[in-house]
Amino acid sequence: MEHVKEHFAVVGGGLVGSLWALMAARRGHRVDIFERREDPRNGRALGGRSINLALSDRGWRALEKAGMVDRVREIAMPIQGRLMHAVDGTTTFQPYGRADVPGVLGDGQCIYSVSRAGLNRLLVEAAEEHADVSVHFGHKCTDVDLRSRDAVHLTFEAEGKAIEVEADRVFGTDGAFSAVRDRMMRTDRFDFEQRYLAHGYKEIEMKAKADGGFRMREDALHIWPRGNFMLMALPNPNGTFTCTLFAPYEGHAECFENWDSDEAVQGLFERQFPDVLPLLPNLLEDWNDHPTASLVMVRCEPWHRGERVCLMGDAAHAIVPFYGQGMNSGMEDCTVLDDLLDSAPDWGAALSEYTRLRKPDGDAILELALRNYVEMRDLTGDPRFLLQKKIEARLQRLYPDEWLPLYSQVTFSHTRYHEALAAGKAQDAIMQEVMDRPDIAEVWDSDEVAEAAMARLRALQHA
Ligand SMILES: Cc1cc2nc3c(=O)[nH]c(=O)nc-3n(C[C@H](O)[C@H](O)[C@H](O)COP(=O)(O)OP(=O)(O)OC[C@H]3O[C@@H](n4cnc5c(N)ncnc54)[C@H](O)[C@@H]3O)c2cc1C
Repeated sequence: MEHVKEHFAVVGGGLVGSLWALMAARRGHRVDIFERREDPRNGRALGGRSINLALSDRGWRALEKAGMVDRVREIAMPIQGRLMHAVDGTTTFQPYGRADVPGVLGDGQCIYSVSRAGLNRLLVEAAEEHADVSVHFGHKCTDVDLRSRDAVHLTFEAEGKAIEVEADRVFGTDGAFSAVRDRMMRTDRFDFEQRYLAHGYKEIEMKAKADGGFRMREDALHIWPRGNFMLMALPNPNGTFTCTLFAPYEGHAECFENWDSDEAVQGLFERQFPDVLPLLPNLLEDWNDHPTASLVMVRCEPWHRGERVCLMGDAAHAIVPFYGQGMNSGMEDCTVLDDLLDSAPDWGAALSEYTRLRKPDGDAILELALRNYVEMRDLTGDPRFLLQKKIEARLQRLYPDEWLPLYSQVTFSHTRYHEALAAGKAQDAIMQEVMDRPDIAEVWDSDEVAEAAMARLRALQHA
């Protein structure tokens, strides 16, 4: 597309908005970011819904396009696999990827724990360093007037005043409860669906040891799977872990409604997580201080309006956090749109193609994330499931170009999410047949099992 310098308004200076502003400025546009919150450097934290996040290949590719890899590398901790904790204290480690395949930072295939506030700050600061980007904190978008054909008119509330802004294009990166999307919802043929998960979450900090060291293995994401609820812990570079308990709000013996007193919370940890209890002396204090937060899912279509308004990140597709892909998929939106701006003849075509390409992938990663919740909380403690994973790992080792585990396709590749989901469903069907063999526990590592699985896979691919 021919380059004309334009004025962009990016509504929401979170992870996706600040990244997109950087990419847009690198393309030569003038960008204003309007962020509802105050500047975190003036004392108040940017806040957010989790303290740390898992960053994987899709996110890194977008960061690379924005020239941010070296800065983000400084705050990223490699996580090699998941470590499952049974109630009796036994643990099982499952690597996420292959140690012999170089990962994005050359550490072998792994994911990275990064601080949400730290990453957001790096992105906003990099955007601010750019001569063509201005960041306006304390500006809450209250309206977007979509009527003009030549520009978009926005209204912000800042210091109690209404401020009017005109921009050539508007990018709604204002999260799951997007004001830009709200306005699009009042236009013809815009589909919207919002759903809350019946489960919520609570965060508890595991402090570092007195010498600053970690209290558990720091290159792992720890999971205590307990049926329909689970505890998870992801390390932070300062020696702490952020522990997150995901559980139903109500309607079960173990649920937030029933953990309504210090005794009930203490009892829960004694019963279900006895190995972690001694590592959390601040459990009750954190429990009472931290809210029980909800998890919302949003689907909408289209992700653009005409050639001037576009939704990205959670504003377009808020998903549950169980695949560690919410931010990564939002960053991938930026990569895809940036690529389209190179190839599409004009903005109208680029944005239509963006919705066409990304909408099925947004739907797919939501489905994958919901499925992964069941896997993490319910199956990771199941011996049959662990055997299945061992067989799959063996298939991957024997046939690395043909058998790509679903987790690797989602986390370590750029395969479109909907294609990964379809491939994962085919693999599931094959593994069901494999696991149904009555003698599978004895023959799981035989050539016969591997060859039968691969024959089924090839037949499905050629069907
Ligand atoms: C518990 C939990 C754990 C998670 N873990 C992971 C993980 O490990 N890996 C991963 O990839 N993803 C994870 N996610 C998902 C990830 O947090 C989101 O996908 C990501 O934050 C989306 O980025 P965003 O910029 O689109 O939206 P947000 O991060 O929500 O940013 C939106 C910004 O817009 C601002 N804003 C909102 N309304 C307005 C307005 N009207 N005017 C101006 N500004 C406005 C907000 O203040 C905010 O700064 C997790 C989510 C949760 C809840």
